[in-house]
Amino acid sequence: MNSNNVTTGQVPSAGTYKCTNCGTEITISSGDTVPPCPKCSNTSFNKV
Ligand SMILES: [Zn+2]
Repeated sequence: MNSNNVTTGQVPSAGTYKCTNCGTEITISSGDTVPPCPKCSNTSFNKV
């Protein structure tokens, strides 16, 4: 697995993450929990 991959429920470092399914980008602030993708409900993201 890619070390830059995060899943819903994790609290990763702040930054922009892209949905591995549809490519939607989400912005995570420090301390934020990764949400499900707002478009496709996917739970896997890669750091941009
Ligand atoms: Zn998606």
